[in-house]
Parts: sequence; structure tokens; C-alpha cells
Amino acid sequence: MAKQEDQLFVGIDIGGTKLHAVVADPRGNILGRARKKVGKDKRFDAVMARVEEVAQSACARASVELGAVAAVGVGAPSPILPDGTAVCAPNLGWTNVPVGAVIGARLERPCRVANDCDAGTLAETVFGAARGARSAVGLFMGTGLGGGIVIDGQLVSGDHHLAAEVGHMIVVREGRRCGCGHHGCLEAYASKTGMAARIVAAAKKGRKSQLTKRTDGKLPKLRAKLLSRAYQDRDALAVEVIDEAADFLGVGVGNLMTLLGPSVVVLGGGVMEAMGKLLLDRVRAAARAVTFPEAAFGHTRIELATLGDDVVALGAVALAMQDLTS
Ligand SMILES: [Zn+2]
Repeated sequence: MAKQEDQLFVGIDIGGTKLHAVVADPRGNILGRARKKVGKDKRFDAVMARVEEVAQSACARASVELGAVAAVGVGAPSPILPDGTAVCAPNLGWTNVPVGAVIGARLERPCRVANDCDAGTLAETVFGAARGARSAVGLFMGTGLGGGIVIDGQLVSGDHHLAAEVGHMIVVREGRRCGCGHHGCLEAYASKTGMAARIVAAAKKGRKSQLTKRTDGKLPKLRAKLLSRAYQDRDALAVEVIDEAADFLGVGVGNLMTLLGPSVVVLGGGVMEAMGKLLLDRVRAAARAVTFPEAAFGHTRIELATLGDDVVALGAVALAMQDLTS
């Protein structure tokens, strides 16, 4: 058997629209990566066949035989049970499917599965912005607001394996409606979906902005780059909507700091990747204003994520590694 530092791992990110696989070593160095569209046929078996293909392609790019890989990790957009079952993945239309068992059997390697945002948080803790931290929280602001919690190096998801849904903590009682059906979730304020709802409401009132041009009264598909450009141009509506999202994100960060006292809070996702540098001071100030005791604020770093598009796949690698060494 290869020495531990020579072992290689495959990490696979199953997204709603694309699959991304990497081959990496235990230090998180990527030797090969491959991408593939999920495709129109999102039935479980069809997607599993494409997952096998993308894993094979990543191995080919890294000039590694799949059989020489120590273990495989997977991140998927669903709550995940310890046996690798995805409980419900609305983006893919899956309910209670055995992701870990099927990928393990197809690739003939040990396989561990985690929720994608949990995997992302683990990746930043092991390889990225929170490297070396015992405890960290990740918040990923994109279309929605996902996240994860690592305590003492381990992902935390509760005794029922469904917790750490940081985007769905309530920040306004009876507030804006969230995609989950509740009202006042952090995600309803600090996400592209939340921002898009405000922009549509403003457009209906006749407000002119770089952002209302594209709505036609419908929820716009807001690209993070477009938001960033409008913000830098000081478009009044963009500044109002984005500053509000950053302030709410800060409230979420502050709540998590008060509850958990992590060493690092990592902020990632498409919006933060596009404009995190512009928003970081504002998020920090909003977090500081609500953290209790305020002295605790100085013990936590709030940082931007560093792993970009590879974050979930590298988290899957970290997960596979953890399983082998624990
Ligand atoms: Zn919600």
C-alpha cells in the first residue's frame, strides 16, 4: 500500500447543472480535473453513469488509474445520511437515493458523501482560508445561501444529520418568504434570489436602474458579475440591495460567532467570489455589531474563501481522506 502522503483521492462535486471531479493528493494539490454537464436526463441512474465518466476523465487527465486511488468523496446538493443516502435533492428531483453505495460500486473504491456546502466548508478548513482552524463556519452566497459547520475538525450536522442549514436561520420574524416555505430566513435576504425579489419589486414601482432593465417583471437571472459592475458604478438600487444583503450576511455571521465561537468564518459562493473584497468590511462591521460578547469578535477571523470552483470537490477529497485516517 502507498505511503499516506503518496495516496491520491478523487473528489466529485454533483451540482444541479454540472459535475466536477478532481484527483488530488493529501495536501490538496490537484493533479487533474474534469467537468461534465448533468444533462437533461436527471434520473438518478443516468446521472450516476455520467459521474463515473467524469471521475474516469479526471483520472485520465492526472495519468492515474482509478484502481490506484485510495478513496472517493462526493458532495451533493442534499442532506446526506451517514450511509451516503441523499435524502432530497430538489434541483435533481431525487428523494432517498443511495449515492454513496452506487458510486462506490461503480468505481470500486471506498466512497463517502456529504452535503455540498458541508463539503465546501470542510475544504476551506483543511486546504483553504481556515486551514489549521479547529472550528470554522462556511457561508456560501450564490443563488441561495448554503453553509456548514466544522467543530474540532469534524462536520456537524446534528443527531438526525439534517442540521447546519445556516441559510435557513430566521433573522426576521414573519419576514420575507424563503424558497423553503418559511418566512424571514437569512437566505431570503442574503442571496441572489433574495436580491432579485427586491429588484423586481423596485422595477414594478418604476425605479430605473442597471438592474431593472433586464427584469420584464419576472425574477431576473442575476449574474454576480452584473451585480458587481452595477455596485461599482454606484447604481443606487444596486448599492441599496447589495448593501442590505451584506448587512444581513453580517447578522448571520454574528449569530454564528455568538453561538459557536469558531476561529474562522469563511465567506464564499458566486457573489462573494465576484465582489467579496468590496463587501468584506461591511459584513465584518455588521457581524461585530451583533456578536456577544463583543470581545469574542476579536477571536474570530472573517475571511473570503480561497478555493473557487474546486471547493466542493476538494471538500469531498478531505472527507474521503478523513475516513481513511480516522
Ligand atoms: Zn428558508
